[in-house]
Amino acid sequence: MTSICLLNGNSFKLWRNFMDLTLSIIKPDAVKRSLIGSINSLIEKNNMKIVGQKMLKLSIEDAQNFYSVHKDRAFFDDLCNYMTSGPIVVQVLQGKSVVTKYRELMGSTNPENAEENTIRKLYGVSVEENSVHGSDSKENAKIEIDFFFSKREIF
Ligand code: UDP
Ligand code: MG
Repeated sequence: MTSICLLNGNSFKLWRNFMDLTLSIIKPDAVKRSLIGSINSLIEKNNMKIVGQKMLKLSIEDAQNFYSVHKDRAFFDDLCNYMTSGPIVVQVLQGKSVVTKYRELMGSTNPENAEENTIRKLYGVSVEENSVHGSDSKENAKIEIDFFFSKREIF
C-alpha cells in the first residue's frame, strides 16, 4: 500500500516538472469589453489549463513594480495609468512549453502586426491596449506568478 502511494507521489512530481507554468493577465481594455470568457475559451481550446485566477485592481505602485523593466521607456507612465484604469484578471496557466505557447496565442505586442486568430489580433485595440500579458521566459514567469499568487491559490 505504502509503495503504491510513493509511486503515485513521484509520478505526480515528474508530471508537474514536465508541465510549465506562466502568468497571464487579461488587461483592463478586455475586462471592460466582457472578453474574459472568450479569452479563457481560447486558452482552454489550446490545451493550456487555468490553475489559478483572480480579479483585482492594481495600484499605481503595483503597476510600476510589475513593469519596472520598462521604467526608462517613453510609454512607461501611460502604460502604468492604463493598467490601473480598471480591474484586471490575473491567471496562472499550466501546460507543456506554456510560456512560448501562450506568447504564440497572444500574438505580437502591436495587434496590427499580430497573426490571424491570436488574442491580440482578435481583440487588441492598440499597441498599448493589447488585451493580454504573458510572461516572456520561465524565469520571469516564476517572478511574475510570485508577484500575484500564493502557493495555496495555484491548483
Ligand atoms: N507598450 C506600449 N507601447 C509600446 C510597447 C509596449 O504601450 O510601444 C505596452 C503594451 O501594453 C505592452 C506592454 O507595454 O504589452 C509591455 O511591453 P512589452 O514590450 O513587454 O510587450 P509584450 O511582452 O506585452 O508583448
Ligand atoms: Mg513583455
